[in-house]
Amino acid sequence: MPRADLLARLDAQPCWDMSIIGGGATGLGCGVDAASRGYSTLLVEKHDFSQGTSSRSTKLVHGGVRYLQQGNVALVMDALHERGVLLRNAPHLVHNQAFVVPDYQWWERPFYGVGLKLYDMLAGKLGFGRSRILSRAKTLNMIPNLEPTDLRGGVIYHDGQFDDSRLAITLARTMDDLGGLAVNHMAVTGLAKDQDGQIRGAEVEDSLTGQIRRLRAKTVINAAGVFVDGIRNLDNPASPRLIAPSQGVHLVLDKSFSPGDTAIMVPHTDDGRVIFLVPWHGRVLVGTTDTALDAPSQEPRPLDEEIDFLLEHAARYLTRDPKRADILSVFAGIRPLIRVEGEDKTSSLSRDHHLTISQGGLVTIAGGKWTTYRKMAEDTVTQAARFAGLPSRSCKTENLPLHGWTNGLNPKDHLSVYGNDVEELREIIRQEPKLGEALHPKLPYLRAEVVWAVRREWALTLSDVLRHRTRAIVLDAAASMDMAPDVAALMARELGRDEGWVKNEVASFRELARTYLA
Ligand SMILES: Cc1cc2nc3c(=O)[nH]c(=O)nc-3n(C[C@H](O)[C@H](O)[C@H](O)COP(=O)(O)OP(=O)(O)OC[C@H]3O[C@@H](n4cnc5c(N)ncnc54)[C@H](O)[C@@H]3O)c2cc1C
Repeated sequence: MPRADLLARLDAQPCWDMSIIGGGATGLGCGVDAASRGYSTLLVEKHDFSQGTSSRSTKLVHGGVRYLQQGNVALVMDALHERGVLLRNAPHLVHNQAFVVPDYQWWERPFYGVGLKLYDMLAGKLGFGRSRILSRAKTLNMIPNLEPTDLRGGVIYHDGQFDDSRLAITLARTMDDLGGLAVNHMAVTGLAKDQDGQIRGAEVEDSLTGQIRRLRAKTVINAAGVFVDGIRNLDNPASPRLIAPSQGVHLVLDKSFSPGDTAIMVPHTDDGRVIFLVPWHGRVLVGTTDTALDAPSQEPRPLDEEIDFLLEHAARYLTRDPKRADILSVFAGIRPLIRVEGEDKTSSLSRDHHLTISQGGLVTIAGGKWTTYRKMAEDTVTQAARFAGLPSRSCKTENLPLHGWTNGLNPKDHLSVYGNDVEELREIIRQEPKLGEALHPKLPYLRAEVVWAVRREWALTLSDVLRHRTRAIVLDAAASMDMAPDVAALMARELGRDEGWVKNEVASFRELARTYLA
């Protein structure tokens, strides 16, 4: 997938049916939907695919037990349906995860037991497994390191788990399979209008070289996540603000803190939300927080009080209290929540999505969740096509297997995220056995995955590989810094870069990785 070929395809198309801004869950979902309907489709992403919010989630494909508590039954039902669709269409990336709500008060088991039965019912035929009340002994059996003092028992239920960045890369590959063009490191810097004030294209800047291009499109979809307001301002500087940004932080701990395969759902935090302690890629992911921000930023930083909050809550539920020094990595993401005038508390803002078309024809889609990306894309592409007068074509994604589709893989095998591409990856190792070696003793990643990421998955920078193709920085920030020179050297060989490039990439990646250390 040489960059020069992608740029040549970009330059060769006189006018795109649909041009999408943003390569997160929402934009990539729109890209797959539009390309699968047969529209000529371009997606541009300013940084790397999933670099915004879409690599920083709790990694749950879920209806959202919390939204049921808030009484948003319609949102939960839609999300539970999408959860089932995603498992069917991407079984190599989504798997069934058991969660236990541990109960320390007499009323909790009946209360959560009934609530979770309703959750099962709302999932209908696409259910992931029935919830059940557990005895104290069974609860401790499933979560051996759960705090036993005053424990009465628990309720087990099922939801989905996934790798958010890997799903994003898979969506980009699916879009490519369908004839769409996805280009990362390409920012929209302006919108082009005709004499009637209708948007007819965009100006884009190559984020790696600074080269400017102008492209034509019949419709432009703004899926820039927390940055949609900036794009709306390019259309009309007087556009009202749509987004209320809210930060969420996660900590990553060693698996020994909760060695079983079952996740813990804490149903009521001190600030009235839920948090999860979830096994993920051989670690424990703890999150999240909800902190209202004045403005979004590209690389949000976890606040000390958010880290303390998560450590404190984790300590209440685990026999061994995690300390700052135990944190392998910490990261923050920003929710693109839809603003409601007069509402300051972001945790009570709706997680529904919001679709709007400006007078100039800019289609903006924001809000929602990773889990509902496909439905958001269906709504958006249908409306965008109608507005632009494109031939009406029905949505195909509900039954569209995603790139690499294959069933029956073991999610504990880290190569399972490649689905049936794994054979091609193994072929690379057969041709050059040294590429079968691991990059670091603390992480499972092989040298061949770096080569694969450059050849097949648009990786152009060290951060692309260590953050989004592999999850090294999230699983162990210090280990990712150690690996950086080796990974950069492998990339340089593939990309035809020199020593100077390697040195610069390693230096800027290490600076970034330091922000993942607690
Ligand atoms: C802490 C946290 C936990 C979450 N957990 C879950 C969960 O467990 N399950 C779930 O379903 N959902 C979860 N979510 C929600 C989910 O992650 C988001 O709804 C989703 O990722 C938003 O995707 P997006 O594509 O709209 O935004 P983004 O992922 O931010 O994508 C927007 C992209 O647009 C790009 N962009 C911006 N400006 C430009 C420009 N000028 N030109 C080109 N590109 C541009 C950005 O670089 C970015 O990559 C969570 C969110 C947070 C913050």
